[in-house]
Amino acid sequence: MKIRCWGTRGSIPAPGAETVRYGGNTPCLEVRLDDGTLIIFDSGTGIRELGLELMKSGQPIRAQIILTHIHWDHIQGFPFFVPAYVEGNQFEIIARPLAGSGVRQIFEDLMVEPYFPIGFDALGADFRLRELGSGDIDLGGARMTSIETNHPGDTFAFRVEENGKSFVFMTDNELRSSAIKKVPFEEHVRFCRGADLLIHDAMYTDEEYEKTVGWGHSTWMTALELAIKAGVSRFALYHHDPAHSDDMIDSLVEQCRKEIRARNRRRKKRKIKMKCFAADEESVIKL
Ligand SMILES: [Zn+2]
Ligand SMILES: [Zn+2]
Repeated sequence: MKIRCWGTRGSIPAPGAETVRYGGNTPCLEVRLDDGTLIIFDSGTGIRELGLELMKSGQPIRAQIILTHIHWDHIQGFPFFVPAYVEGNQFEIIARPLAGSGVRQIFEDLMVEPYFPIGFDALGADFRLRELGSGDIDLGGARMTSIETNHPGDTFAFRVEENGKSFVFMTDNELRSSAIKKVPFEEHVRFCRGADLLIHDAMYTDEEYEKTVGWGHSTWMTALELAIKAGVSRFALYHHDPAHSDDMIDSLVEQCRKEIRARNRRRKKRKIKMKCFAADEESVIKL
């Protein structure tokens, strides 16, 4: 399985000289399974460049597009996803719609006059729309499970397992929340247990979190705690705050690594071997 982030930024795009290394686009991930199946998580602004890259093949494009939730930063790139306009391309969209409406409604509301000149029905590609339920989903050679996160509205994290490798995408999640208590910390630990890669929301410092309790995001420290407790092999900080520069994100990663070193000094055995880094828009992570 190969994973590439095309957008790593939370809330709103943050382009500029200060965010060049980790990127300014909002969430979008490309997951390539070993059997070639393409899975796209979220359609933030990063999906625009992913679409342009996919178009280079000149071949029909088939993919599953899975939405963690429908906050702006996770859907706003969709109208600029060029492959959606091209006949012969096929997409299955999996999402949890608002109560009482279908998945189609999400896109009809997103692409509507006077906010956008082209309606969802005018797109050239074939779309199958599927409501996210509670059961497992087979995606090519992989099996995907989901769990709710602690975030305003219905939001989900996903675990993809293929050929003995596992990847968890858990964004927009307020761990150890006093304000949003949907899923206990221990359940998220169980969900992430032993993953080869965990990409998790690590938006805030402790000081920032004092002013943002209940907004549905985690500090780097609580995200690190989850990664350590779950025994994951690699942990990537994600959903970077739009106000955080590359240097600031470097310092968060360094604090995570320092914390791991400190804990290992205290441990006689079962040392933490986890690799910790921040998600960027360039790297391809191979599992
Ligand atoms: Zn978000
Ligand atoms: Zn959100």
